[in-house]
Order: sequence, then C-alpha cells, then structure tokens
Amino acid sequence: MSNSDQARVQEQNLSPDKVMHKLVSLAKRRGFIFPSSEIYGGLSSCFDYGPLGSEMKKNVKDLWWTSMTRRHQNIVGIDASIMMNPTVWEASGHVASFNDPMIDDRTTKRRYRADHLIENHIGKLVRDGKESQAAAVKVAYEAAAGTDDPNRTLYEIITTEGIKAPDTGSGDWTEVRQFNLMFQCNMGAVADSAGIVYLRPETAQGIFVNFHNVRESSRMKVPFGIAQIGKAFRNEIVKGNFIFRMVEFEQMEMQYFVKPGTQTEAFEAWREERINWYTESLGISRGKLHWYKHDKLAHYADLAYDIKFEFPFGIEEIEGIHSRTDFDLSQHQQYSGKNMEYIDQTTNERYIPYVVETSAGADRLFLALLSDAYREDVVDGEPRVMLKLSPKVAPVKAAILPLMKKGEMGERADRLCSELSQNFLVQYDDAASIGKRYRRQDEIGTPFCFTVDHQTLEDGTVTVRYRDTAAQERIDISKTSEFLATSLMKA
Ligand code: ATP
Repeated sequence: MSNSDQARVQEQNLSPDKVMHKLVSLAKRRGFIFPSSEIYGGLSSCFDYGPLGSEMKKNVKDLWWTSMTRRHQNIVGIDASIMMNPTVWEASGHVASFNDPMIDDRTTKRRYRADHLIENHIGKLVRDGKESQAAAVKVAYEAAAGTDDPNRTLYEIITTEGIKAPDTGSGDWTEVRQFNLMFQCNMGAVADSAGIVYLRPETAQGIFVNFHNVRESSRMKVPFGIAQIGKAFRNEIVKGNFIFRMVEFEQMEMQYFVKPGTQTEAFEAWREERINWYTESLGISRGKLHWYKHDKLAHYADLAYDIKFEFPFGIEEIEGIHSRTDFDLSQHQQYSGKNMEYIDQTTNERYIPYVVETSAGADRLFLALLSDAYREDVVDGEPRVMLKLSPKVAPVKAAILPLMKKGEMGERADRLCSELSQNFLVQYDDAASIGKRYRRQDEIGTPFCFTVDHQTLEDGTVTVRYRDTAAQERIDISKTSEFLATSLMKA
C-alpha cells in the first residue's frame, strides 16, 4: 500500500452521557433497535431488533453457540419451551423467593430497588473516603437476609443513612415490600388458579429438568454441559438504560454438570474461558471488562462472579458465573419424585452432580458491543461516525459500490454482489457519492467496501477500503470471497 492510499484518521473524545444518546438514535435510524409497538406509543422496556440489529444479534448468538457446542465435544445444546409445568418454579424457589425489595417515594410516586439504593450508597461512601461508615453499612446490609424481617432492616438502613433517590434527591420513603418478578398467565379456557403458568424468568430450569433426557439420548458422561439460548421474562419494576434492563430478554446459558468436589476447579476454568471469549471472539476491549466477586451469595450458590462491562452509564453485569451446587437437581428430585442421580459406570459411584453455570444476556452484550464500538473521528478532514465492530459481529460484512451504476461497471458490481451473497451478508449501494456511501457503511460497522471502478474493467481488480483506517488497496475481483473468509477467520 502506498502512503498516498493512507487516509488520516483522528479520533475524537466523547463524553459517556453523549454516547448513550447518540447510540439510541443511531440504533433507530439505521435499523438496529426500535421501540416496541412504537406507533401506539411503545411499551416500557420492550424493544424490537430491526434488520441490522437482528443480523448482529444472530452473529453474537451464533458465536456463543459455536464456542460452547462445537468447540466442546462434551457440551450439547437444547431449545426448551418457555412455559413449563408450574411445579418447576416451586422446586426452583422462584415462586417463594424470586423477589426484589422495592421502596416507593411518596412525594414523587417513583419506585426503587431498596438493595440498589443501599449498594450505591456504600459505593458513594467508599468514593468519598468514608471507609469505616461504608463497612458498617455493608455489614448491616449483608446481615439483613438473616434477620426476622429483612425488609424492615433494609428500610432502617435507608432511613438511618438518609439515603435519597438518585434521580430526584427526594426521600419520602414507604416501607420496603417484596415484588415477585415472574409473569403469570393462564393456560386453558378458564382463568382460575389451577391454570396458572409462568413465563420462564431464566432458561436454566429447562436444562435441569432435561438432565436425564439429554444425558441418555446423547450418551453424555459427567463432566458434561448443556447449552441453551432463549427468551426469559422478568417483571422488572426498575427499568431503563435502553436495552440493558428489559422485561423480555434473551439469555445464553450453559449448565456444566460435574462430580461433587470438583466444582471449584471447573468454576475457575470456565471463568477464564468466558472472559477470553469476550476479548478473543467478540473483540471487546479487556480494559472495559471487570470481575466482581459476590460476597452475598444466592441460596443455591457456593461461589459466584459477575463479568461486568464499562457501559457509558456505569460498570454493570453482562454475565454471571455461578457454582450452583446440587441445589437444582436435588430440588427437582424432591418435587418430582424422580431420581436425579448420576451413576458413574466405571466406579459405580452414585451422586447428584454439582453445577457450574455461565449465564450471559444477549441483549446486554449487544449494548456492550455497540457502546464499545462507537467512535467519532475525522477522516481526511471529514467527520464520520463509525462502529468499530469485530468483522465477526458486524451485521454487514462488505459493501459493493460501483463508481457508476450504469453499464459494465454496474453489471460487474451486480455479479460480485450475487457471488458474495452466497456466503456473506453484503450490501449493494450505488446511490450518492462514493464518500457518502463509505460513511453510510462506517456508521453500521461494515468492515470492508469493494469499489468497482474504471480500473476494474481494465485489469479485473477492485478497491478494498478498510473501515478502521480508511486505507485502500487493490485486489483481484476473483479473490474477494477468499479475502472476506480469511479476514473473518482472523478477526
Ligand atoms: P441484575 O442484577 O442486573 O438484575 P441478575 O444478576 O438478576 O442481573 P442473572 O439472573 O444472573 O442476572 O441473569 C444472567 C444474565 O441475564 C445477566 O448477566 C444479564 O446479562 C441477563 N439479564 C438478567 N436480567 C435481565 C434483564 N432484565 N434485561 C436484560 N438482560 C438481563
């Protein structure tokens, strides 16, 4: 490549609050994400993926699926139903305790998660250097679950500490109450309590109840895993931050069944594999990923970490890695009356396997990828918006741009487009100046543009223009498919 082909790219600095605003607008304008049922005023915390968004989300899910099921001979996938026998949710503990502690502000009529208010308060005390006060509040907060009335304890912490609502500064608090997050609906002709079914709040239970079906049909031996991608539903009272917290979302979960006593080793191996997946398969900057170890564990867990990402609005969870002990299989054994033990054929040992779970949210990850990729820069003096997505994740892999739409140039471009679209999602664009067409592709993260020009007709080469550097080089038109395949493999 000669120096004259190198464009001058200067990156601009952007404040995080502006990035969110710009992302939401770009996502709608370019067909990544639309508000759900928008023509009727939308529905809170529900979103639709548009043409580019659904392609990109599919890429993310395919990468996850491949990394789990193809790369591991001992992991297989399933696709369980969303509605299940309601006893599943009694056994799992969701009917009794899938609750969030909520508190209302009487003046503003706004509702908040009591636990979030306290956790944010502790964080603020630490940032303000009030370490000992933070430690005391933390101790009281962590002890709340073991008290006779945990809601009262949370209320007392909030009022004694004078915690105010983060958005309004008001603090006219009601008592703390529990809200169950599961959506209920009725199955059958009569709407009575016998017909109540739930929309699953997590995909994991579909895996646990199929433990023996999968093990037997696929001849799996412990340790082995079952992977699943699917919708989950939670009646989240506190919503917001675009697609970060939704009431209907998609999870990518894998439950790994191990012999009791080996769970910590498996846990550590999965921890490493999962963080590497984000950087190596998705191209997310390692510096924006953080580990968070849970001190306060869920009733079923003996170890738990979250992978958190630096969103423009703060550092928040994108995946949970949990060592779930034998809680779920034991509960299903008890509630169903079916034996959930595994028999080791070589040693004749019988046990209920322990489970290490990796549970990621496809939508949160989608938002993480968009915010990680968003750039504003100046190329040869012209401002542009660019999504620096990994080519594997980018919805469109290449654009085919004829310099002139008519005549042989248009025909060659047309032919190239049909050939490449056999294997890749490509876009043909002949409208407006070449510069404007590049900008359109940069904004949706298309990593490569192939331009068919006068020289193409003379020597059969096209220009490849690289999104990130805006540099250009020529390659033979017959090599474009191989070029894309290799670039995607290397990405
Ligand atoms: P949070 O504390 O943020 O509510 P969680 O700890 O309840 O999350 P898990 O039950 O561990 O989340 O679910 C696993 C993953 O599913 C999360 O890491 C997240 O990516 C995703 N997820 C959970 N709830 C939602 C939601 N309401 N909207 C979008 N994604 C979600």
